[in-house]
Amino acid sequence: MIFFRKPCSTDSCGTFDLVIVGGGIIGCATAREMMVRHPNLKMAIVEKENALAKHQTGHNSGVVHAGIYYKPGSMKAKLCVEGLKLSYEYFCKHDIPHKKVGKLIVAQNKEQVKRLDDLYNRGIKNNVPDLQLVEKDCISKYEAKCQGERALWSPWTGIVDWAVVCKHFAEEFKKMGGQVFLNYEVTGFSEMTESTQREELAPISVHSKDRRCIPTKYVLTCAGLHSDRLAVMTGCDLSPRIVPFRGEYLLLSDSKKHLCTTNIYPVPDPRFPFLGVHFTPRINGEIWLGPNAVLAFAREGYRWLDINVKDCIEMARFPGLYKLCFRYFFPGCKEVIKSIFYPLAVRDLQKFIPEVSFRDIKRGPAGVRAQALDNNGNLVDDFVFDGGKGKIGGRVLHCRNAPSPAATSSMSIAKFIADKLKTDFKL
Ligand SMILES: Cc1cc2nc3c(=O)[nH]c(=O)nc-3n(C[C@H](O)[C@H](O)[C@H](O)COP(=O)(O)OP(=O)(O)OC[C@H]3O[C@@H](n4cnc5c(N)ncnc54)[C@H](O)[C@@H]3O)c2cc1C
Repeated sequence: MIFFRKPCSTDSCGTFDLVIVGGGIIGCATAREMMVRHPNLKMAIVEKENALAKHQTGHNSGVVHAGIYYKPGSMKAKLCVEGLKLSYEYFCKHDIPHKKVGKLIVAQNKEQVKRLDDLYNRGIKNNVPDLQLVEKDCISKYEAKCQGERALWSPWTGIVDWAVVCKHFAEEFKKMGGQVFLNYEVTGFSEMTESTQREELAPISVHSKDRRCIPTKYVLTCAGLHSDRLAVMTGCDLSPRIVPFRGEYLLLSDSKKHLCTTNIYPVPDPRFPFLGVHFTPRINGEIWLGPNAVLAFAREGYRWLDINVKDCIEMARFPGLYKLCFRYFFPGCKEVIKSIFYPLAVRDLQKFIPEVSFRDIKRGPAGVRAQALDNNGNLVDDFVFDGGKGKIGGRVLHCRNAPSPAATSSMSIAKFIADKLKTDFKL
């Protein structure tokens, strides 16, 4: 569906070559990359919130992933390993606080040991640097109080505040001449009609909720939790749909912080899409435990009581979600119970560090994952890009799915998108 609107007030900033919708890490990294490549183009980021990085980019584990888990040959695998190297170079060059604390993936039984070995082979195929298998007796050399049957050690895994990185990208973009419009919620796109000369210069208008509009030649959307809605505005298919899954964290008490100096992860269960509850040291010294995965009742539902009626109605009408809920009914119920009675989660944590007790944990922050689902309830795992239909659609590129580890991969995703904008739009 393309919106043809009544004239609205055009911002006094003139016309743009490229408008990027979404001030998360994908939008800001791509804006920076485009500005580095094309310093003469006029570009803007538009963001609906009053600050950048307010959603997934500002509510995540803060891990710099090394690329172990992903299917060899997939975009996820390639872009993560590339993104890891680019990210560390960037952090060092710009003095962004980060730590290469490493990561242990710990198997607790024979079946997990077998999966851990498979994971090691996968990591090697993905060119993850310096991966090592660690036998039971040596695990404590990497994390003194951690226990398990066997572990995988990834020394390149690190931690950083991705919101800080995102804002850094945006600052560089601005210094090179880019503009950032906050409080600009995009509600539609239309063809310019009032002036033919202007139409040639910038044939698309990007409309905001408060009836402003920005004329531009091309549009890139990186709208995270709303990416499907933006795509539909230019005539794209509704599928894949975004379903919000909240990831809640617990906080480890100050008296037990010394127990965790590296990232400690379980061996992921291949039946489930997420990595499992892990111990993550934060760059500010906190230790986060989590995240779990529960359905949220709002796309930006950071708490159980955040309920958005429009979002709920959309979810209720989406057959893919019923199929997913049916498939994951029992594990889903377990996650909900553990979310409500959070001390129950302590048993999962004690498998790795027995010294953690329920007295040492309290509720912490949460993030919401933009989980893309197809109509059959399958989780869409890799990055998805889409164009629109008709005259407007031919000038718009949508980044529809940028799941974890997209923060780690943001600089390589930005390069990929910039190449795509060159081939598709000659930009
Ligand atoms: C709980 C959790 C843990 C994670 N852990 C990690 C991790 O440790 N390491 C890692 O690499 N990745 C991690 N990820 C994934 C990573 O955070 C995301 O993949 C990444 O932040 C996605 O960035 P984005 O720019 O696509 O989306 P977002 O950061 O969500 O940004 C999208 C932006 O678009 C804006 N927007 C939406 N609609 C409109 C509109 N109509 N008009 C204007 N603006 C609009 C939003 O306000 C938002 O600012 C995690 C994610 C979650 C949720």
